[in-house]
Amino acid sequence: MSRLLAWLDRKSFLGFQVWDFSCRSFFLEYGRLFLARVLLRHPARFVRGLCAYRRVVRSRPDLAGRYDQSLAIPDDACVAAALLQAGPPPLVGVGFCLKPNDPRDSALACPSGHANHECQFLQAGTAAAVCARCLIHAIAQRCLRARCRVYVMTSARDIAADFLLPQADSGVFPSAILLLCPYSVQAILPALLICNIDSLLIAYGKGYCRDFREWLRADRGIKDEQTSLEPHLARELFAALERRAAAVSPASAFERRGNIFEPAG
Ligand code: SF4
Repeated sequence: MSRLLAWLDRKSFLGFQVWDFSCRSFFLEYGRLFLARVLLRHPARFVRGLCAYRRVVRSRPDLAGRYDQSLAIPDDACVAAALLQAGPPPLVGVGFCLKPNDPRDSALACPSGHANHECQFLQAGTAAAVCARCLIHAIAQRCLRARCRVYVMTSARDIAADFLLPQADSGVFPSAILLLCPYSVQAILPALLICNIDSLLIAYGKGYCRDFREWLRADRGIKDEQTSLEPHLARELFAALERRAAAVSPASAFERRGNIFEPAG
């Protein structure tokens, strides 16, 4: 069965490259939550989003080759404009797996814990020594200057509840930069297009989950390897944040609303 689903994805059967992820997700909580809420409240948007997804798949033959690099959805120009426009600030989503993690030595691990939405630096502005080894720290500093929201992503269920469904219901997260494993980049595209989120997706280069089994373990908080970005993708991310920083006034701190850290001051 898994070979068949992988084959359907490779062939873009019926214009979809998410057969494997969708079939495996159908009976899991996040799949039911997303489908039920969006289909019940926004059926027309659901259909429009799937049509937009198929257009992206069919118009971009290089799409599958971008899953382990960076990918702007729906396209580079829209995303560049969306990241600079006035209105709700872009959300920068970083996986909890970017946190330093060493079960044998707490001095080498994130002081806020591992598989959660917490970050001492985002919460209080104080960095521990270990934060120097954490990409979330470098990103958060730039997000203050660029007035971006920051979200430490954990499970697919929380991503749906904290980010995708509020955008589908009230348009509060129209643009995003998300750091994800290549498998998740491929998997999340339909949801982003259904929810109408202009997104720059940047794939981890090391430590990431390679298939659904590993992804599901990480979704349940079981993920020892620390992920990281390849240097050229980190430069691309920082350049996007610096472009926005040049166009807005910096924030002085973050204020937490739910699981999202909002720029304030
Ligand atoms: S910046 Fe520091 S507190 Fe925040 S996630 Fe990284 S290690 Fe943890």
